[in-house]
Amino acid sequence: MAQVDIERIERDITAVSRFGFNEADGGVYRQAFTPEDMAARAWLREQFESLGMTHEMDGAGNVIGRYGPADMPAVVIASHLDSVPASGMFDGVLGVIAGLEVVRTLKENGVEPAFPVEVIATSEEEGRFGGMLGAQAPSGHLTREWLDSAADEHGLMLRDAMAAVGLDHLKALHAYRRPETIRAFLELHVEQGPVLDTEKITIGIVEGISGVFKWKVRLIGKADHAGTAPMDMRADALMGMVDFAHEIPRIIDEEGTDKSRVTIGHVACKPGFPHTVPGEVDFTIVGRDLDHDKMKALAEACERVLSAIARKHKLHFEYEQMSWLEPAYCDRAIMDLIEDQTRKLGYSYKIMPSGAGHDVQFFCEHTRAGLFFVPSVKGVSHAPDEWTHWSDIERGTQLLYECVTELACNEAALSDRSEVERA
Ligand SMILES: [Zn+2]
Repeated sequence: MAQVDIERIERDITAVSRFGFNEADGGVYRQAFTPEDMAARAWLREQFESLGMTHEMDGAGNVIGRYGPADMPAVVIASHLDSVPASGMFDGVLGVIAGLEVVRTLKENGVEPAFPVEVIATSEEEGRFGGMLGAQAPSGHLTREWLDSAADEHGLMLRDAMAAVGLDHLKALHAYRRPETIRAFLELHVEQGPVLDTEKITIGIVEGISGVFKWKVRLIGKADHAGTAPMDMRADALMGMVDFAHEIPRIIDEEGTDKSRVTIGHVACKPGFPHTVPGEVDFTIVGRDLDHDKMKALAEACERVLSAIARKHKLHFEYEQMSWLEPAYCDRAIMDLIEDQTRKLGYSYKIMPSGAGHDVQFFCEHTRAGLFFVPSVKGVSHAPDEWTHWSDIERGTQLLYECVTELACNEAALSDRSEVERA
């Protein structure tokens, strides 16, 4: 049986981590469309070149390497090369380098696939400009208006950031891929959460990516002197927020599922002075679930509970929904194929949701798409000490190899599996 080579994988992941590596904090700084990000993309093209793959950069900055026959729908292996500031070395990079290793292994074993294998390093997955440009462009989730107006948190426009590295932002509209050009889409990623590591499971087969809603909430009470205002005569906005925070477990118990998440991630208390009763609190609520109706139920419960708490504490409340992103479901046949191959390899696995967003989510309705995880030690990610054991990376890449080989060499790999619609 053809085996992937962990030494080559380790060498390549380490090589990519040098692009944007910061000695001071040990983190990787390879935000989208920075010179470091572009240098990593150029490096990847050299690897494609040395493997005899055809390669290009599309209008969105995605680097695409292709191995196998032209004019056939491709088995796509994709993940991203950009990072958040002070990131670890595996997030996104693993999926790209694993793809490279899959092609290398196919080649050295003389496997000539019936369908081409494409390795895609997507651009701007981490949302520096508020989207997932590299995945949105080929899957048809882009508009000119958004491209013209997108900016990072410092006000730098996407179009200017792309122009600075020689790219025309509007060309991203030309990066669209017709669904017929893709046979299947596979992504391997580190879990970025603690479940697999805690449960000592090697592979997480993802059933879907949770939908997310984000609210900005304001509770308005009355700022008072902290010494003279009796406790029962206050309209303390912070006490209202804290009451709400305590209600979150009950809201999930009654309206949610084990896949529900409700988080207050940002709080600003006004006037924010130790001797003043907080007159106003601004905070965010981010809710997630894998099911649209559950998301709605969670959102409605949040509103109901906030309104009751506002009454109790003599507060006003207002909220604004900043975003609502629907859940995305992986393809049942692809999930089954991953599960079969995982069993054959004898790896432990579980079916699980992804709470984090990934490139794959934009391809779920566009083509037959699947995602699987390998464990993140202690669940750490988006931080310099993000870690995944090389032995797990080897297993994940081997599994990717088996899945890709099955999809690219066996014409019937998907045809005998039922296409189950899940909505
Ligand atoms: Zn990622």
